[in-house]
Amino acid sequence: MNIASLTIDRVREGLRGREFSSLELTTAALQHAREQNRITNAYIDFSEDRALTAARRVDEKLAQGEDPGPLAGVPVAVKDVIVTKGVRTTCGSKLLANFIPPYDATAVERLEAAGGIILGKTNCDEFAMGSSNENSAFGPVRNPHALDRVPGGSSGGSAAAVAQGTAVVALGSDTGGSIRQPASFCGVVGVTPTYGRVSRYGLTAFASSLDHIGPLARSVRDAALLLQVIAGRDPLDSTSADAPVPDFRAHLDGQVKGLKLGLPREYLKDLTSETGDLIAGAVKTLSKLGCEVREISLPATDYAIACYYVIATAEASSNLARYDGVRYTIRSASAESLTDMYRNTRGEGFGAECKRRIMLGTYVLSAGYYDAYYLKAQKVRTLIARDFANAFAEVDAIVAPVSPFPAFKIGEKIDDPMAMYLSDIYTITGDLAGIPCMSVPCGKTAEGLPVGLQILTRHFEEARMFRLADAFEQAGGGN
Ligand code: GLN
Repeated sequence: MNIASLTIDRVREGLRGREFSSLELTTAALQHAREQNRITNAYIDFSEDRALTAARRVDEKLAQGEDPGPLAGVPVAVKDVIVTKGVRTTCGSKLLANFIPPYDATAVERLEAAGGIILGKTNCDEFAMGSSNENSAFGPVRNPHALDRVPGGSSGGSAAAVAQGTAVVALGSDTGGSIRQPASFCGVVGVTPTYGRVSRYGLTAFASSLDHIGPLARSVRDAALLLQVIAGRDPLDSTSADAPVPDFRAHLDGQVKGLKLGLPREYLKDLTSETGDLIAGAVKTLSKLGCEVREISLPATDYAIACYYVIATAEASSNLARYDGVRYTIRSASAESLTDMYRNTRGEGFGAECKRRIMLGTYVLSAGYYDAYYLKAQKVRTLIARDFANAFAEVDAIVAPVSPFPAFKIGEKIDDPMAMYLSDIYTITGDLAGIPCMSVPCGKTAEGLPVGLQILTRHFEEARMFRLADAFEQAGGGN
């Protein structure tokens, strides 16, 4: 059994054919992940007890002839901004170094109920703020394809774990690109579902109107099944959608002939030549499959970065107010008064990027500036959503780059926040509009760095998005 290349189907086959038990697989997977983690630092913690208990449960069900669930025995990694009962959840922050949540996120509960085995919690930028995983208090993650480069962020640990083969699938979170961008940098599939498709209950809030939980996997098929398991209405999240969840895998039938695809003009101008060439190659493959590709325009794109960094920081400044030394967090030892305790705890606990965003977000929400920044940004957000609605009147799906460049070197952009923010230019628009979007591998640069193709569809049309991505993957699009 080659752990690093397992798929969900292969795990099912192995368990049913009694080639291995869930306990054997889990034990081997944990050992493999621990060893490999020395190379990438993708995991912050391993949840060994919980994994072994879940594996025994799967074996018991199999022995009794019960259905152990669609994810039975599958090793899963969970980004450390998603809470796990009894398993430390740090959000990549020093502040939460001792935080043991008393409950599970809905997505976690659902994937365990489906038989999934949570091996551990993955490294990420502090409170999911970043594009390189360098903002983690637990050290940077290394890209398995080039160890001197970043895996992308903020779900860098989840993307690296799946790419490295220490988990079959993983959960990430995306507020402005944090699933798709690391998926692109690490050469795996990453999916940001429609806003509200997956419950946010138990996802630590960064920017609540933009936050999503979504899957990372080595194939479209596996990503589709993981989404299937975690999606659907949850009474514990009032923004979760009451929309039926289709059988995503049933749509992976290769039927893409005649699909109308739009290529946004504004997304092609700042690409490095190698990324541009790979995107052009992907478009050619899609045309060969019978899709009709035409150029479209998303005119508000130029304002997207400014709009996102006003809205996201405004919401973050409010959401991060709860980390005050009273609940959840470590508490500063040096405090004479309550106000001092707040100030010292937050001053010592938050990293530079979180502090920058709290200040920026507080500023754009303050009396006198609210109308000029926050309100303006909300209006621009509507324009961006309208751009997509107009485009989808003409085309069935949009294809685009994920990032202007492939994985960059560790340290290359960390001292230049503006350069870092610009790496999100093609991903934040999908989050602002709340539409489903994903990254699927579309080849590698001469240096061997993976590049992803982004696919975006209308709200709740994940099935169509998966169908297109799967047809592309089957046509060898990623090689
Ligand atoms: N890179 C973006 C940011 O830093 C997106 C992060 C995310 O999606 N969580 O805000």
